[in-house]
Amino acid sequence: VNKYIIGLDIGGTAIKGALFSESGEIAFRNEIATPHDSGQAFFIDTLCDFAAALSDGHTVDAVGLGIAGILDPACTTLLESPNMPALRGMPLKAQLEQRLHCPVIIENDANAAALGELRAGAGRGLSNFLFFTLGTGIGSGLILNSRLWRGEQGRAGEFGHVTVYPEGELCGCGKRGCLEAHSSGTAIVRMAAAAAHQHSATALRAYAEIPSELTPKIVYQHARAGDAVSRDIFKAMALGLAIAIANVHTLLDIYTFIAGGGVSRAYDYFYPMVMEEIDQRIFSSVRGRIRLLRAELGNDAGVYGAAYAAREALNLAGL
Ligand SMILES: [Zn+2]
Repeated sequence: VNKYIIGLDIGGTAIKGALFSESGEIAFRNEIATPHDSGQAFFIDTLCDFAAALSDGHTVDAVGLGIAGILDPACTTLLESPNMPALRGMPLKAQLEQRLHCPVIIENDANAAALGELRAGAGRGLSNFLFFTLGTGIGSGLILNSRLWRGEQGRAGEFGHVTVYPEGELCGCGKRGCLEAHSSGTAIVRMAAAAAHQHSATALRAYAEIPSELTPKIVYQHARAGDAVSRDIFKAMALGLAIAIANVHTLLDIYTFIAGGGVSRAYDYFYPMVMEEIDQRIFSSVRGRIRLLRAELGNDAGVYGAAYAAREALNLAGL
C-alpha cells in the first residue's frame, strides 16, 4: 500500500506544500499566500483546505508541517510565533489532527529544513552538521548522530542569536550583537544604507535617498563589480558568521556547516572570506578541515524536511 505524505512549509509570506509518494518523490505541489492577522480559526481552515487540495484525491497517511517559532518540547503547541502572533499558544497539532484525520507532525521551520538537507540535500550521509539559513533572519537546525538536536526545552539551534559582537547592533530579539544583527540579509541592507550616506566613493551612494530599494543582491552585485565598500559589507557579514561557526565547531567538534536561505546565493563570494576568518579562530591542528557547504534543496528544504519528519514518526509508530 502506498503511503502518501504531505509536507507543508509555513513561511512569513507563503505556505508551500507538496504531496510525496511512498518513494519520496514529489507527486504534486502548490503554494498559497500566508494568511496574516486573520485569527486561529481562519488559519486552520486555510491549512486544511490547502492540504485537501494537495492530496489530489489520495488518502494521506500523515502531514508534516514546518513553522517559524518555538514549539513546546513535544512539538504540539506553538509557544512563540514571530510571523503570526495570533497563533501563539495554539495547540496546533491537536486541532489539525482533529480536522485532517491523520497524524500531524510539527517542526520548527529551520529544523525541518535541516532534516530535508539531511535526507535529500547537502547533508546526505552525514551524521553531524549545523544547517543555517541566511535570509531576512538567521535560523538553524543542528543534526547530531543523524538526528535533530532540539535541546532540553525545544529551543536548540538558535544560531542566529549567538553573540558575535559584545557592543554590536540591536537584534530583533532584544539583545545586542547577535549573529542575525550582523550577518543576515537585513544586516547587509542596514550596513549598505549606512554606507550610502557615509561614503561618497561607492556605487551604493545612488541609494542614499532610496535606501528602501537596497537588497542583499544589489550589494552583492556591486561587490562583485569591484565596489570596495560593498565588499567590506560582505567582509563584516563573513566575520560574524566565521566567529559563530568557529565557536560551534570548538564546542561540539563538528566539521560541516550548510548554508541555505536567499543570501546563500552569494555563497561563492563570501565563502573564501568566511573560511579565512574561521581558520584564525580554531585550533591550528584542525585548520582547513571545516567544511562550509551550500544547501542543495533551496526553497524546497522545508517541505522535504516536514515530510521526512512525518514519515519518521509513522515508522517509529510502526504504521
Ligand atoms: Zn538576537
